Amino acid sequence: MIILIADLILFNELLLYMFKHIRLGFNIGTILRRKQLNKILELMLSEGKEYCIQERRLNIYAYRWQFVPFYLVRIGLANLVKNHELKELNKKILDRTTYEIASYSENNNIIEIYEFNLLRWCNKINVSPENYMIEIIFHEYRHKYQFNLNLKLNTENAEKDSEEFANIFFKKNKNAIEQIIAEGK
Ligand SMILES: [Zn+2]
Repeated sequence: MIILIADLILFNELLLYMFKHIRLGFNIGTILRRKQLNKILELMLSEGKEYCIQERRLNIYAYRWQFVPFYLVRIGLANLVKNHELKELNKKILDRTTYEIASYSENNNIIEIYEFNLLRWCNKINVSPENYMIEIIFHEYRHKYQFNLNLKLNTENAEKDSEEFANIFFKKNKNAIEQIIAEGK
């Protein structure tokens, strides 16, 4: 029993240690710097460990061409396993007439943000890219939370929940966020 408890404490410590060292993906985009992104993720983590359990992978594609190699591989795979949904989603990301801004893949536990679409959208609705990027990160991490807690929400409710969370969490941390954004200027 004592060994078990000691084990759990050690394991917990190890997790905490890992959480402090958030790993970002290869591509981090151009809207926020790495340091700023790390601070945003730390903010998420302060809300609960469910937001960053296991791998903390976030990929931000700044330009269309950065996404093209991934697109080609995925379309190839989607064709191979006849996954129509995956194919359509990836096509939409490169489509200049739609605004596919971000996605969370439950299978791979990866959050992706498509900055080239996000910037177009921010221009269209006239909002600050930094603010919007941060809200999108909160939104996608909430999907991760839903998955980690096995909430099994349907698409509509999952989106509603993510949207609400991002909104409330943004307001709750407004001062900290403003400070983080200012660091990039
Ligand atoms: Zn969503």
